[in-house]
Amino acid sequence: MPTHSRVLILGSGPAGYTAAIYAARASLEPVMVAGPEPGGQLTTTTEVENYPGFPKGITGPDMMEEFRQQAERFGTQVHYDMGVRVDLSRRPFVVEGEADIYHGDALIIATGASAKWLGLPNEQRLRMSGGGVTACATCDGAFYRNQDVAVIGGGDTAMEEATFLTRMCRSVHLIHRRDTFRASKIMQTRAIENPKITVHYNKEVADVLGGDRVTGLALRDTVTGAPSELAVTGLFLAIGHQPNSQLFNGVLDMDETGYLKVRPGSTYTNVPGVFACGDVADKVYRQAVSAAGTGCMAAIDAERWLAEHL
Ligand code: NAP
Repeated sequence: MPTHSRVLILGSGPAGYTAAIYAARASLEPVMVAGPEPGGQLTTTTEVENYPGFPKGITGPDMMEEFRQQAERFGTQVHYDMGVRVDLSRRPFVVEGEADIYHGDALIIATGASAKWLGLPNEQRLRMSGGGVTACATCDGAFYRNQDVAVIGGGDTAMEEATFLTRMCRSVHLIHRRDTFRASKIMQTRAIENPKITVHYNKEVADVLGGDRVTGLALRDTVTGAPSELAVTGLFLAIGHQPNSQLFNGVLDMDETGYLKVRPGSTYTNVPGVFACGDVADKVYRQAVSAAGTGCMAAIDAERWLAEHL
C-alpha cells in the first residue's frame, strides 16, 4: 500500500522542515521523504552563526536535528527514502521511492541544491572535517578573520564571495582556470579593483594542502602546466551550484540552469498543487533562513490550495 498524505514533502533541509512544521500545525499530517542527504546542505557545515534565534551559534547538524524534532512533535512522518520517479500527471501525485511509494494530494518540493566541488580527495576530507574548505562565504567567512584565503571560480558568485571576504580577511586570492571571467562586468570590476584581492588567472587547484586544517594550495598553470604553491588557511569554492531538480525534468518549468520556476511572490509551480521552496527554486539567496521562509510560504500555499480544491 502506498503511503498517502494530504501534503507530501520532498527534502529535509530548512525549507522542507519548515514546510512540515507549518503543514503539521495546520493538521495536514505531512509525510516527508528525507532524500539522499537528510538535513540538507547544513549537515555539511560546521557552525551556523547567522540564523536568528541562536545568539551563541549552533552546528549545522544540531540545527537540523532541532528542525526535525520540531516537525515530528506536531505529527510529521519522516521517511528516510529518496524519490526516484514522480508522476505529477494525476492526483494524488505519486512519488516512487527506493523503499516505498508515496501519494500526496499536494506536493511540496524542497530538494535543495548541491554546491559543486572540485572532487579532489583532500578537498573532500578537509570539507567534511570542517578543516577550512567550504562553499559559502556568507556562512563561514567570519571564521577567517585576518587570515589569507582563496576563492575558486570566475562567475558572479566567485566575485561576490571574494569581495565579501575582503571585509574580514587579510587577503583574498581569486583563482580562475581561464584568463577571462564569466562574471558580469560590474562585479568583475568591483573584485579586480579591490586592493585586498589578488587575481590568479589560468590556474587550477591540483591539491589542497594541510593535515587537520588547510595550509595552502598546490596550483597548476592551465596554459604552461607550471606548478606553484599558495599559502592560505581557507578555501572557498564558488564554481556553481546544481539544483536538485532532475526528478522533474520535462514536467516542471525550470530556468536554463535547472532551478524550478515559481510564480513570483509565491511557491506555485506550473502544475497546480505542486509547490517549490528553498534552494531548488532560489539561485540568488541560498540561505537557511530564506529557505525556511519559502518553506513556510509553500505550506501556506498548499494549505490554501487544498482548501479550495479538495
Ligand atoms: P557560474 O556562472 O556557472 O560560474 C561558475 C564558475 O566556476 C565559472 O567561472 C567556471 O569556469 C568555474 N568552474 C566551474 N567548474 C569548475 C571547475 N571544476 N574547476 C574550476 N573552475 C570551475 O556559477 P555562479 O557564479 O555560481 O553563478 C550562477 C548564476 O547565479 C549565474 O547566472 C550568476 O549570474 C548568478 N549570480 C548572480 C549574482 C548577482 O547578480 N549578485 C550573484 C551570484 C550568482 P569557466 O568560466 O571557465 O566555465
